[in-house]
Amino acid sequence: MLLATGEVSEIAASFRERDAAAPESYPAENISSLYDARMVPGPFPASLGGRGWTLRESVDAICTIASQSPSTALIVSMPLGLAGACFATDRGFAPPGWRDRWREQIEWAASEYRAHRLFAACNSEKGAGGSLAAINTVATVSGGGFQLNGEKILASGGRNASWFFSTAKVDPADLPGAGVVEFFLMPAAGKGVDVRDDWDGFGMRSTESQSVHYQDAPAHALLGFPNFINTVRPLQYWFCLFAAIPLGCVRGIIDALTTPAPSSPALRLRIADAVMRYEAIDAYLQTTAEAWTPGADAAYAGRVLRAKTYVTMEAAKLSAELFSLSGGRHYRRNDYVAGLLADTFAGTALRPPLALALESIVEQFEDVVLRA
Ligand SMILES: Cc1cc2nc3c(=O)[nH]c(=O)nc-3n(C[C@H](O)[C@H](O)[C@H](O)COP(=O)(O)OP(=O)(O)OC[C@H]3O[C@@H](n4cnc5c(N)ncnc54)[C@H](O)[C@@H]3O)c2cc1C
Repeated sequence: MLLATGEVSEIAASFRERDAAAPESYPAENISSLYDARMVPGPFPASLGGRGWTLRESVDAICTIASQSPSTALIVSMPLGLAGACFATDRGFAPPGWRDRWREQIEWAASEYRAHRLFAACNSEKGAGGSLAAINTVATVSGGGFQLNGEKILASGGRNASWFFSTAKVDPADLPGAGVVEFFLMPAAGKGVDVRDDWDGFGMRSTESQSVHYQDAPAHALLGFPNFINTVRPLQYWFCLFAAIPLGCVRGIIDALTTPAPSSPALRLRIADAVMRYEAIDAYLQTTAEAWTPGADAAYAGRVLRAKTYVTMEAAKLSAELFSLSGGRHYRRNDYVAGLLADTFAGTALRPPLALALESIVEQFEDVVLRA
């Protein structure tokens, strides 16, 4: 059994059993117990209802949760990342005229987390290849605020969300100083917000990762301040959390195959080999996460891209190899290990999806690889 100590593993210990009883249902109880334990808002300071988690601690928590319930980990990674990458950011990042508004928004968000309201990511679009710059959703000024029009896919949490945070393009004439893309906070049950019922995942089946259509949908607010994404550079935080999910799946498979310990020497050797590879990718991810800071430069973004790409690829290979050793009793559609195998591959699809990540690594070869 791999080491998984601490409070997170105590709470997550019941997840596997709950999921087994209802493998296709949204894991409401799991999510609720993580809110009760102040883990969904973990990166917020204690004064705002969190635990002051660093990214390294958040990565460890997501990996531990994923080893018991990958779907729970994926759903939670979105608000946890939002708390860590955006709301827990030093307020000094905001331009002077926006600081009070940003402080008030952080306090509002913290109170929403305390009320267990789920913030879900609603950013991906068909054909955008996982790139933010390639999205078609637009935000235009209407009635003193912004309204969104566009079609999003794969919003994990679906109808269980209270809020979506969504990317949209804004005309700088409507928002002076705007970046190419900004985040907007959208009420999930708001006017013009249509959450579809089209999720039928290969794995991660209980995440309810539905499509969402915005038609003249009034936004609650711009998240942060103009040019937020380019200033704070929050995406790397989520990329580290996403990599922790397939890592946790591998941990879960190793735990399943070693409980009870196999007597076959050949199996023991292969599992020992898998543990070494698991520990190596875990260390790569942890040291990458440790170096996170808001507004980090391109060199750090390159490091995160490589770490996320490598960890998710290795985890996918490891889980496939381990599954092939797991025997006929696991070759069932609703088997726990088979589920972990399917769930692992979501890691290569999560932003940035593998093809786009490899493309970027090649494009940035001189800057990112040679100067690493
Ligand atoms: C289980 C699951 C849950 C998810 N949850 C969320 C969520 O909660 N919120 C959210 O916003 N998103 C979510 N996603 C979406 C995910 O983060 C990716 O953004 C999404 O999978 C990318 O869409 P696609 O692979 O269908 O891309 P497509 O645009 O259809 O591209 C298909 C493939 O071509 C590649 N490609 C396309 N264009 C290029 C290019 N220019 N250069 C190189 N390669 C390219 C892509 O990388 C991809 O591999 C989820 C995905 C999964 C699988």
